[in-house]
Amino acid sequence: MESLQNMALLRKPSAGAPAAKTTLNKTSSIFSKAKQINARNKEQGESRRERLFDLTVPPGDHRDVLILDVEPYAQYEHQYEVNGKWSGFAVCIRETDACPACSTLGREGSFTIRMTCLDTTPFTIKNGDNAGKEVRISRKMLAIKTSVAPKFERLLERHGNGARGFRGMYLRLNRDSAKEARCGSDIEFLKLLSDDEIARFIAKYESDPKRRIELAQVCDYKKAYPVPTAAQLREQFGVNNTIPGTEEFEETDDVIDDEIPF
Ligand SMILES: [Zn+2]
Repeated sequence: MESLQNMALLRKPSAGAPAAKTTLNKTSSIFSKAKQINARNKEQGESRRERLFDLTVPPGDHRDVLILDVEPYAQYEHQYEVNGKWSGFAVCIRETDACPACSTLGREGSFTIRMTCLDTTPFTIKNGDNAGKEVRISRKMLAIKTSVAPKFERLLERHGNGARGFRGMYLRLNRDSAKEARCGSDIEFLKLLSDDEIARFIAKYESDPKRRIELAQVCDYKKAYPVPTAAQLREQFGVNNTIPGTEEFEETDDVIDDEIPF
């Protein structure tokens, strides 16, 4: 598997776009480029705020979680190594366009289904205004890869509640080793909760009414995982040459370095 040790800088659009071979050829285009990058940064900031932590079951342990979604959100996505950590992320666009992430990473984005769940593993906030505060319940993102997906399909067949789908399923996720998917591969059905029971479940762990409402919300997936354009992915992966056949290719002018006005 290709390691991307040098990707850290490239993840920031401003750092990943060297002057050479960009499409800038007028001063005004610098401002439009800056505007684009600012808009992209804002969008990325918003999507990061909307995103939840992916639930990771420690190897040799289990987590009990309550599913909030009726049906899962599905997408193709890339996860990749940055400085030794698998923290790189990009939504794969191969279904609609030539995906620069696929070609850079040398592998296709993997099909992933996502569901919002409640995790009652307590933790203490380390930084910020609420440092030292214990959190008894939190929303997490359950990311399910194709290897585990059939188990969730069976769960739905056996225990799903008609039109309510997965909503209210209380599951035990067991993970025997680090080689297993992050959510574990042994998925046990514990019970099915009604909406009233979900509300009582939340109330048992959280006293703040505002936070109770927040905890009951399914993630806004479209905001959390916006589908990037091919150009945005090229920028993220530091690929400056366009791929023939994509829309941007037609509009791109090759410029020589001397023409860049800075
Ligand atoms: Zn891709």
